[in-house]
Amino acid sequence: MDTIELDNQYVMHTYGRFPVVFTHGEGCFLYDENGKEYLDLLAGIAVCGLGHCPPKVVEAIREQAGTLMHVSNLFHTQPQPKLAKLLCEAAGMTKAFFCNSGAEANEAAMKLARKAAKVAGHPEKTEIITAEQSFHGRTLAAITATGQPKYQKSFTPLVPDFKYVPYNDVDALEAAAGEKTCAIMMEPVQGESGVHPATKEFLQAARELCDTLGAVLIFDEVQTGLGRTGKLFGYENYDVVPDVMTLAKTLGGGFPIGACLARGKYADVFEPGDHASTFGGNPLACAASLAAVTEILEGGWVENAREVGAYFAERLRKLPGITEVRAMGLMIGADIDKPVAKQVVAKSLEKGLVLNATGESTLRFVPPLIITKELVDRAIAIVSDEL
Ligand code: PLP
Repeated sequence: MDTIELDNQYVMHTYGRFPVVFTHGEGCFLYDENGKEYLDLLAGIAVCGLGHCPPKVVEAIREQAGTLMHVSNLFHTQPQPKLAKLLCEAAGMTKAFFCNSGAEANEAAMKLARKAAKVAGHPEKTEIITAEQSFHGRTLAAITATGQPKYQKSFTPLVPDFKYVPYNDVDALEAAAGEKTCAIMMEPVQGESGVHPATKEFLQAARELCDTLGAVLIFDEVQTGLGRTGKLFGYENYDVVPDVMTLAKTLGGGFPIGACLARGKYADVFEPGDHASTFGGNPLACAASLAAVTEILEGGWVENAREVGAYFAERLRKLPGITEVRAMGLMIGADIDKPVAKQVVAKSLEKGLVLNATGESTLRFVPPLIITKELVDRAIAIVSDEL
């Protein structure tokens, strides 16, 4: 049986996969079973920020894998606190909790917010406000937080006490927030629904409401974090600092890891027994992440994301057939004047270009942060032929 037949027979059908089997990758390129080369503008859905198999991350994984991979969180290991220090200092946060994915990081953040209210003597504060069209992951609480009924409808009843407001609607947010609110959770830029940046007024209003109500402001930076938006963290584009932020995707340089970071008094809400993850923060994941985050900080890749992202967005704006481009760094959404996004993605794949459609007429580009203007030109030539 070949790979695709095996997959069809033995893997649960949760993904609609393209008929390609990738066998290896290097930098911005992927290669399939037949040796065909693909320029990758999806980067494992905004995960491979340093491209495929970044040498320093590969080296760190090799070394750590031969030293110590896992012992559980009942003991100390060296990479975990080192990574916590690096992330907290870079993000202006106080302490970190480590897990394995974005959804898990958001679970930690939401549990932290509910417990913070109880610790503060307000057990009635249980409501979490999120945005319509948001995306926070696939666990039960994370899909509840995700303001998209299409992801929720098969799995009801959902987790109680969530409210949704239209993204960037300050009046709706003010109307929804109240004495029962324990957290407002927002993405600085909504990615999954086609790259929609928040307005400064909206995130500022969220900050002020949380301050007034004693609620936790959570930013889901799973996709926006670590350079994607042309700043190290998405929140830096807004001058609004959250109390709690979540990271995953680019955090491991391709290796699975998630983190929930908290600031000030929120850093000490969890006590032993409150929250845990068997695999979370294991030495292998943390060593990979230490190498990846260090390279993002020292390699100039955040600046590259800003500069090449601006160039990419400008080139897209000039393409006939593109009606709107929304961009922040290398997080770019482009609307097409016809509902052909899925065909554009399929035809580009045939021509050796990996893209993503987030809707009938919207393309999303989240390439590695290391991409060059020359590679952007190569991609634009293929996309423009298909519009
Ligand atoms: N939050 C955001 C903003 C995301 O974009 C995603 C995934 O796309 C998630 C959370 C969920 O992350 P994971 O798939 O690692 O659970």
